[in-house]
Amino acid sequence: MAKCFTKLCGLWNKNRGNTSIVILCTIIIIILLSAVITDIGYSAVMRYQLANGARMTALKGAELLAVDKTKAEESIRAFAVSKVRDLNRLEIKVSGSGKELTVSMGRSFDYIFLKHIGFKRKQICSRMTAKLSSISSYKGIRPFAVESRYLVMGKRCELTNKVENESKTIPFTAIKLGDDTYSTDIIYGYGKKVSIGDYYYTMEGDNDTEKESLLHTLESCTHKPGCTYLEYNKSCPRLMVVPVVQSRDEEIKRVCVIGFSTFFMESMESSNDSLRIKGRFIRQIVDSDTSDDISDFGLMGIRLVD
Ligand SMILES: [Zn+2]
Repeated sequence: MAKCFTKLCGLWNKNRGNTSIVILCTIIIIILLSAVITDIGYSAVMRYQLANGARMTALKGAELLAVDKTKAEESIRAFAVSKVRDLNRLEIKVSGSGKELTVSMGRSFDYIFLKHIGFKRKQICSRMTAKLSSISSYKGIRPFAVESRYLVMGKRCELTNKVENESKTIPFTAIKLGDDTYSTDIIYGYGKKVSIGDYYYTMEGDNDTEKESLLHTLESCTHKPGCTYLEYNKSCPRLMVVPVVQSRDEEIKRVCVIGFSTFFMESMESSNDSLRIKGRFIRQIVDSDTSDDISDFGLMGIRLVD
């Protein structure tokens, strides 16, 4: 009887030892799996952050490229470094046309756990291309059509409703856009989308309406510090997107839209029968439909290519 009891106790101790080994192995496997899963997740986060940094840099870069090609690269590099930590590779390529920008960036990182069991530092790379194209349709244009031959980017000029022979004045033609009032279209922009190829009838602009509406538009810019053509709030009412039309025959009372441009209004002068809107045509990036097959009049959109 005593012999049998001793045998049973021995068996019990042996099983308990085996169970402990199994539990220990299970714990080790769980810890290893957790470490692997954590580092896979960490690696995914690093890749996402780098891809996001490349995307933001390409978008910002294209925006800078649209405004000033010569100074763009330096600013793009500074932007990239401020957005992504520990970059060890940064290449910026601008196409010959100046309309396409490719950003390649890379960085390395240590795994959190796997580095302790011999996994080496990981190098990751990301590439993104942004393309600038002209806007092909836009919602919110002001009812002032401007002929393409007069457009000069960045130079101070005056839009006027009277034909002048001075070089700095650019005539505009009032157009009838839809059911909105002329005043509403001047202050807020036309509420429907206008596309390349659309025709609109010209009309006799009303000097008083133009004067009052433009004054209201000027005063609606309450941004601090005040907006300038170089630094402005993107929603500033002084930014007036106008349709660009071909040189027109005075006898033909309608115009065809061939593009869009942004006029930054700085001030306004009016007399009894004439109006002068002072400002500059500027390059601006907006979020709207684009096309590569139309002329560049300064209003551009950005597309990410890969
Ligand atoms: Zn403003």
